[in-house]
Amino acid sequence: MMVFNSNSFSLKGKVALVTGGARGLGKFYSSALSLYGANIFVVSRTEAGWDEVKRVVEEHGQQVFFFKKDLTEPGAATDIIKAVVNHYGQLDILVNNAGMQIRNKVLEFKDEDWRKVIDLNLNALYYLSHEAAKQMVKQGHGKIINIGSMQSFRAGKYIFPYAASKHAVLGLTRAYADALAPYHIQVNGLAPGYILTDMTRSLQQDPVRGPEIAAHIPSGDWGIPENLMGPLVFLASEASDYVTGVMLPVDGGYLLR
Ligand code: NDP
Repeated sequence: MMVFNSNSFSLKGKVALVTGGARGLGKFYSSALSLYGANIFVVSRTEAGWDEVKRVVEEHGQQVFFFKKDLTEPGAATDIIKAVVNHYGQLDILVNNAGMQIRNKVLEFKDEDWRKVIDLNLNALYYLSHEAAKQMVKQGHGKIINIGSMQSFRAGKYIFPYAASKHAVLGLTRAYADALAPYHIQVNGLAPGYILTDMTRSLQQDPVRGPEIAAHIPSGDWGIPENLMGPLVFLASEASDYVTGVMLPVDGGYLLR
């Protein structure tokens, strides 16, 4: 029986696997989870960001382990879950964060670009969730957090596979939440709105799209990566044990309009 107290958000003794957890928004997830006590396991294709994340996680008094792997390689999911369990002996939290976007005009979109985006944003997320679930079912608990986007709910006229994959992530979140609930595993999503990062700076500064987007956000303010950290910790912690199957928008109200 859960008792709510000031430890309910604590992740002490937990192990969190964060895909793409060394740079971009992922490094803020590694930082947030370690700040609340989790040991971190990061997967990425390259070593970009590893030194910085190591410094941050260790400053929070936690351990971090890096695993270099392309998530879209056949067999990657099995290798990754094996490596987490070999290293830490358990897996409590999976953050499916790694994702990509390719833009093009409607009649010019290439089949190979469709496949690339679907392979990472959807197929790799499914395979990793599937392998992680096997370990979590054995443990009798777990948290899976899928990173969606505004395109889990809305269109995107230059980003067809991105919109399709993020809608599918919402569907998969709900299906897994339903299937894994009897095993005390919660599956939720986090849907970042327009967050100011190096990648989105040019969009914010675009003289047409910048003001259009800002006009759509009730406060008029873009988000910052730090805005995602509290909601992520909530979904990773015991405080959210009766929350499952939701895709939580962290968007300053963007979806309201
Ligand atoms: P970035 O491109 O900045 O980072 C992507 C991360 O994923 C990197 O760590 C990258 O590491 C890793 N990665 C990419 N491809 C692979 C692969 N094949 N195998 C293993 N790791 C991989 O993305 P963001 O931080 O901007 O986005 C992260 C997530 O947040 C995505 O799912 C995105 O859709 C979502 N999102 C982002 C928003 C934003 O404003 N930025 C808004 C809404 C959603 P490496 O290159 O070393 O492999």
